[in-house]
Amino acid sequence: MSQLIIEGLRAAVDGQEILKGVDLVVGSGEVHAVMGPNGSGKSTLSHVIAGRPGYEVLGGSVRIDDVELLDKPTWQRAEAGLFLAMQYPTEVPGVALRDMLAASVRTLGDSSEIGERMRTEAERIGFGSQFLERPLNVDLSGGEKKRNETLQLGVLRPAFAILDELDSGLDVDALRLVSRRVEEATSEEGLGVLAITHYSRLFEQLKPDTVHVFADGKIQESGGPELATELEDTGYERWVSAPATTSAGLLDDPFADPFA
Ligand code: ADP
Ligand code: MG
Repeated sequence: MSQLIIEGLRAAVDGQEILKGVDLVVGSGEVHAVMGPNGSGKSTLSHVIAGRPGYEVLGGSVRIDDVELLDKPTWQRAEAGLFLAMQYPTEVPGVALRDMLAASVRTLGDSSEIGERMRTEAERIGFGSQFLERPLNVDLSGGEKKRNETLQLGVLRPAFAILDELDSGLDVDALRLVSRRVEEATSEEGLGVLAITHYSRLFEQLKPDTVHVFADGKIQESGGPELATELEDTGYERWVSAPATTSAGLLDDPFADPFA
């Protein structure tokens, strides 16, 4: 039993504070959903945890058990058991998925039957094995890229996975296969998951233990799975400040002269 522990995490981009104190603990086998409006900092959270360059960490800590990740480069965070399925997976021309995965698995230690593992994992999510030979993510459709991320997750068997809108771009059949695969990883391999999404349909197969509302750079509220359906119905209005208007009369009469 391990824990991914995020404590008081604050980070800035371009001098602007985006993460304003994030606290979250994900245990092995648990699924935590993170839902929130566009631009609230969800992808920033995933990038800062994974160590993407370009972010300034202002404070806090991200650990797997007692191993601090924030002072490590991304590859060492992966070695420590962390995996990120990116919202917009990077295209890497000239590097076949098969070669990238084989190199990653060798680095992690156990590379036995790697070819067989790749084929089995591709089959489990309905991903054609011809994609193994293609350059990583190059010219793949949005949904193919998300299956590609899921294949890597299945083969690499991390302790914790952050899924940044894994459901975006997937059709209903692919979504079912992919979310079922992740759910199986939680129950069979004890994978802990932080799933960022807008839609509760991801949770038809992948069952969240806890749902967090993320707005304005921090977790505003946490609850059970029912919170996901509620959010999809009601939106995030409660947690987002109303847009400012320049003149009190503007909303009443859109034709009014604002300078009168
Ligand atoms: P979300 O994933 O919740 O939609 P993001 O984490 O992508 O939100 O973005 C949060 C905010 O940070 C947005 O206002 C976005 O424009 C800003 N931001 C993210 N990355 C950068 C960057 N590299 N440079 C400048 N602003 C950025
Ligand atoms: Mg995002």
